[in-house]
Amino acid sequence: MYSEQALRLHIAKWVVPVGYPPIEYGGLVTFGGRIIDVAPASSIRSRYLGETIDHGEAIITPVLVNAHSHLELAPLRDLVPSSGSFVGWVRRLITARERVDHQETLAAIETAVAELMEDGTGVLADTGNTGIVLDLAGADDIYWPFSGVFFHEVIAPRDDDFRGLKRLLGTPTIERNEPHNNFNLALSAHAPYSVTPDALRFIKAWNYYNRLPFSIHVAESTEEIDFLHSGSGPIRDLIEERGHWPPDYEIPGTTPIRYLNKLGLLDSQTICVHCVHLDDADLEVLVKSNASVCLCPKSNMHIGVGFPKAFDLKRLGVNMAIGTDSYASNDRLSIFEEMAVLAAADPRLSTKAIFEAATLGGAKAIGLDAIYGTLERGKKAAFLVIRPGNLPSAEVMDFLVLETCKSQANRDMIVEEGDQ
Ligand SMILES: [Zn+2]
Repeated sequence: MYSEQALRLHIAKWVVPVGYPPIEYGGLVTFGGRIIDVAPASSIRSRYLGETIDHGEAIITPVLVNAHSHLELAPLRDLVPSSGSFVGWVRRLITARERVDHQETLAAIETAVAELMEDGTGVLADTGNTGIVLDLAGADDIYWPFSGVFFHEVIAPRDDDFRGLKRLLGTPTIERNEPHNNFNLALSAHAPYSVTPDALRFIKAWNYYNRLPFSIHVAESTEEIDFLHSGSGPIRDLIEERGHWPPDYEIPGTTPIRYLNKLGLLDSQTICVHCVHLDDADLEVLVKSNASVCLCPKSNMHIGVGFPKAFDLKRLGVNMAIGTDSYASNDRLSIFEEMAVLAAADPRLSTKAIFEAATLGGAKAIGLDAIYGTLERGKKAAFLVIRPGNLPSAEVMDFLVLETCKSQANRDMIVEEGDQ
């Protein structure tokens, strides 16, 4: 990390600004923790006098955005195998979670944070229903490497739980919404089937008036689709078993996306996580609402719920982000791996679109696109220097998405600090 104030010229074989075509032999100029120019290296060298750092045979890109993770589930790596059904996996998750203690969780989060950084994540939207990640992010004596947001996740299947939530919102921790190293605190709802309609509206409104993004797992499994249509099936069984079934539950009788839309929850500050099961009308609703979709393809494959509708979403212009979900459904928290899986699954989806989702799309989804997501004037000097060995002479986007994750690329993350 560079800390003193100085004009710097970072030069490399490739600069990938995102939003603009890659620049062969490009460079970026930084000062005071911000980018002040991005252009061909020759032009930069002739116009600026400063410390020149020539990264040589490397690719400079924005830091990646992981728009959906659950760091507090880090100790569950390899402990929650697929069971062939979504609810079966949830049951295994609940059991595995009960066996984990605080110290194990702290150690596992430390490993997960190192892995996220190694794989290029600089901006993170993490979700959890304990305070452990927020405590770490806000601790004075711990270096927290991410900007982004922590979503305190609410599970409130009955109104009783909702009253508990209101009490929680009255406590200073949540109310103050203090940024922890640019790591904001927001609320998220677990899913359309596990939070009452009143609580869903309340959470969304609270985030909206605090100018924060809102996140919810939605349209993840066929069990969810069936439950919202009929009020029955394995999800109802699970809720009843856990003693949460509300006697006055009104069956939505529609799809998860249309249900959220009816409740007024979908807008440009909402992140719909998963979106595996969408029909044409759902896609239309998403387009009209300007909501973002966060794709977690490796998690979906692990649980066995299907694959997200990435090509349709992109074709229709829906803003896409990418997340890893947690070790309970993924063997690595790597946005590079998620990109490679998306590219391999559907050749119609361009690698440019995929890389955009991993950077600008994610930054937009969590409301930080004025600071992150691209390399351009005014944005934070936070970027990756990737040295994979053999560099392409063309098609750098394909190379970034398809090859760099296979090649054990050497990646450095550079975050320059400044006054702002
Ligand atoms: Zn999740």
